[in-house]
Amino acid sequence: MKKSKFIYKLISITTLVVFVAFFSCSAEDGPSEDTVFENVPDPDPDPDPDPDPDPAIIIDEDTGSYTTCNPDGENATRTSDDLPNPVNVGTIDDRSCYANYKESIIDGVTWGIYNITAGSNNQDAANTLQPRIERSLPVANSNVGSSVKFKGDFRILEVGDAGSFGQDGSYIAQAKGQHTGGGGSADPAICLYRAHPVYGSGSNADKQVAFDIYAERILERGGSGSGREVILLKRVDKNEITSFELEVGFKVDPSDATKKIHYCNAIIGGEAFNWNIPDPERGTQSKIRYGAYRVRGGRAQIRWANTTHEKVEN
Ligand code: CA
Repeated sequence: MKKSKFIYKLISITTLVVFVAFFSCSAEDGPSEDTVFENVPDPDPDPDPDPDPDPAIIIDEDTGSYTTCNPDGENATRTSDDLPNPVNVGTIDDRSCYANYKESIIDGVTWGIYNITAGSNNQDAANTLQPRIERSLPVANSNVGSSVKFKGDFRILEVGDAGSFGQDGSYIAQAKGQHTGGGGSADPAICLYRAHPVYGSGSNADKQVAFDIYAERILERGGSGSGREVILLKRVDKNEITSFELEVGFKVDPSDATKKIHYCNAIIGGEAFNWNIPDPERGTQSKIRYGAYRVRGGRAQIRWANTTHEKVEN
């Protein structure tokens, strides 16, 4: 028995030595565990280990059929149903019973939601003014050097479609301002940024897949209808995050220092679209609104984030 005990001990020690020797060696010189595992074929390989989310799914989009008005969209007054601390700047002007202002958070960014439907204006007399949920911003005077500047990022998910170019589209933002000498509205629009639907092809033929953004500009103070021109600026994809900057103000006319220029300069997705407003001497104000406005058919869905506003007054 003594001998067998000795042999057992010997085997145990030998095993320990071999064991330690093997692992010391493999730790220092052998392939790392990672390398070993990399070489092991995956018995059930995933063809797309990190799939992108389906681009067709937009978490804050209203899809499918809808009713013109909803109980949670029926604000009592134009300003009564804003969120307590909205992420978007400006005073709410809600004239739609389809929805009230809401917010969504996507990739850490909080977006203001502006959804309206045709015929949903619950604030003005029936069949008069177009529905809107917009925000108004402080007004600058008409002294040289005075201006207002709005910045934000937008996404367009849906715009009005009423069957003809003149009736189609929804405004995402507008420059406004009163003038001397009468004519037109008491609170005239000067330049409106109007998004028109672009439909897809094949199975997407009935889907709005992109939007053409036009500038609808007055040709004269008080001009509306035929008194405006509509100029194509650029196309953006549906849900494409697009930067938007609009500055409206008065400056000296470089060709005649006794005159001034009333400018309306937009930068959309990094592309500048500068324009000088007609009859600058008649202008008395610069101001900006943004959100969603006008839907003569269907539904419009605009999103705004990272909004700021700056007013300089001389
Ligand atoms: Ca509402």
